[in-house]
Amino acid sequence: MTAQPHRITVIPGDGVGPEVVRSAQRIIAAAGVAVDWEEAEAGAEVFKRGDTSGVPRETRASIERTRVVLKGPLETPVGFGEKSANVTLRKLFETYANVRPARELPGVPTRYAGEGVDMIIVRENIEDLYAGIEHMQTPDVAQCLKVITRKGSEKIIRYAFELARREGRAKVTCATKANIMKLTEGLFKRTFEQLSVEYPEITAEHLIIDNVAHQMAKNPVQFDVVVTTNLNGDIISDLASGLVGGLGFAPSGNYGDGVAIFEAVHGSAPKYAGKDVINPTALILSSLMMLRHIGETAAAAAIEDAVLVTLEEGKAVTQDLARQTGGDVEHAASTTGFSDSIIANLGRRPATVPSRADATPPASPATRRPSWAYGPEVSAAVERRTIGADIFLESWAAPGEAGPALAALAGDVLLLQMVDSRGTMVFPDTGLNPDAVGVLRARFVAREDGVAVSDADIAGLLGRVGERFAWTHVEKLHVFAGEPSYTKAQGQ
Ligand code: NAD
Repeated sequence: MTAQPHRITVIPGDGVGPEVVRSAQRIIAAAGVAVDWEEAEAGAEVFKRGDTSGVPRETRASIERTRVVLKGPLETPVGFGEKSANVTLRKLFETYANVRPARELPGVPTRYAGEGVDMIIVRENIEDLYAGIEHMQTPDVAQCLKVITRKGSEKIIRYAFELARREGRAKVTCATKANIMKLTEGLFKRTFEQLSVEYPEITAEHLIIDNVAHQMAKNPVQFDVVVTTNLNGDIISDLASGLVGGLGFAPSGNYGDGVAIFEAVHGSAPKYAGKDVINPTALILSSLMMLRHIGETAAAAAIEDAVLVTLEEGKAVTQDLARQTGGDVEHAASTTGFSDSIIANLGRRPATVPSRADATPPASPATRRPSWAYGPEVSAAVERRTIGADIFLESWAAPGEAGPALAALAGDVLLLQMVDSRGTMVFPDTGLNPDAVGVLRARFVAREDGVAVSDADIAGLLGRVGERFAWTHVEKLHVFAGEPSYTKAQGQ
């Protein structure tokens, strides 16, 4: 029993949220952990009251105080909010690390039962296509900016290595699409390679994300810790959940520098709301991650053992699991009944799988002050030159017409290097003939090698191009420390 109760913000959430959250709270209390819960609101009802963020000020204030949140799923009712309250919470508190363990559980049938799947997916949670920066370039052409930063990459990759070290895990796999997105996914991969040197006791490997999906479906036990960018992580963490029993069993933690939010992966399952039939395991496992986060490791191990005993014995089986195992769905355990069984099993050790009480991770080595490669001074010291600009245009003109017209507008400092359509060069003619979609990119570079192009040169160019074409956006072309800041077009 702890002397001082822990202060934790609890957000029961929508749909089945309150039922699964109450289960976890009851079990935590039964395990003897004293918690002073600050109950807070977010989600559907908040949106309906006209708060377009879905997260009221009092809830934010509570999280600022407690720094730890246990939350149920939140709904974004159609027509009431722009952004999901879940995403708002993640962004407000910069919980950059989404951690999703996928571990085989006894009594939960899967294709790989008995093989010992036990991996942790560490997903970057803020950047990438999820920054939500989207534009319609024309009425028919949409664009989403994929933002990957050195800082964001270093934070999540170091988080993954430190997690592996803390838990005594042997391998970290970095999963990217760096072969195609050489600058964005490539930055993540290069950062991983740089940081891996600081963790010599951990095997560091890089795999292309599509191969990770393939390998995970074929031979999942090979994975230990997997670190990856946001969209990749979204997909493969769900894949990993599917390998060990699915949504009813998938926990998660969202960790930031100051705040951590623990939640089940599943949504509000509205059709089961209030019926006391939902499987609470995912939220209970999430609450174990929370207990470990606040230092209640013994209680976490005891509860985890009780969950393992309950699943292993199969005396209390929730409807979803009964359906999967061909059991008696009609007489399946209720949410409350299943939670009562876990409470009754506190103090017991599982018979068929190792007890988590024995799996205490080795003491973490003294934390060294990490060296970071990002920061204003580091960035400012990089030798740089602007050598041109890409101008994107709304145009259906044939390349043979647009190319010469654009070349004639280049001026004295710049010349037209090429025109492309969706990344495939169409001028000068390469014989490639991609479908026209109404947007072209014109790449202008300095006429003379080594000459720096000024903002005034680019502004003048834009003015001239704007008189003949409708430009939609502009990207400067730089050389940073001798390396081009842009990729070539297909065929260039
Ligand atoms: P869902 O996860 O609620 O349901 C998907 C399916 O899985 C349903 O058949 C559901 O009945 C079943 N299921 C989910 N959890 C279960 C459990 N614990 N035990 C047994 N079966 C379970 O996903 P959805 O239907 O796409 O979304 C419903 C709502 O939840 C939406 O408003 C969505 O935006 C929201 N949502 C919230 C979160 C979150 O808060 N983190 C995550 C996902 C979805």
